[in-house]
Amino acid sequence: MATSDLPEFFLCEQCLNNYQNLHFKEDAILRENLIPFATIFWDDEHPSGIPRPMCNEKKCFHSVSLLIAARSAYWEHGEIPPEYTNVWNTAKKIIPTWPGFKRLNPSKEERARIELCFQNANDWFTALSEMSNGKMEFRETDHGITEWSATIDLNSENEKDDPQP
Ligand SMILES: [Zn+2]
Repeated sequence: MATSDLPEFFLCEQCLNNYQNLHFKEDAILRENLIPFATIFWDDEHPSGIPRPMCNEKKCFHSVSLLIAARSAYWEHGEIPPEYTNVWNTAKKIIPTWPGFKRLNPSKEERARIELCFQNANDWFTALSEMSNGKMEFRETDHGITEWSATIDLNSENEKDDPQP
């Protein structure tokens, strides 16, 4: 049971207001976010047009991240997996008109875009991992988000094709 591993969906007063004032637009623009979400979003889903709250509260950014992750999981599984149920239900309660709730069944074309995002993010990580010779670190934070870092040694670049005996 991973149900309680994730924190509650929380937004500061400013973000709550901003997100409550968002409304679904027929002509919203579909965009891609490779890092960190590896998925698509629409510009009417966030106050600033991109998936980033306009305040400096870390909790708000994590909440927005979790909401995006929950919807991605819905797209993938056709339902909200148990670990995201709390986040999803709370979000539906406090920001019921969030445009993203109306986009739960991506078209064939949108699914292709989602898949492409995922592939591109994957390729990017693979390339980064090769450049850093596997010196990548992943850390699970207490907010259910994975942080990562890569160390790239630029001096070893030339030795790659000419390994030491
Ligand atoms: Zn906030």
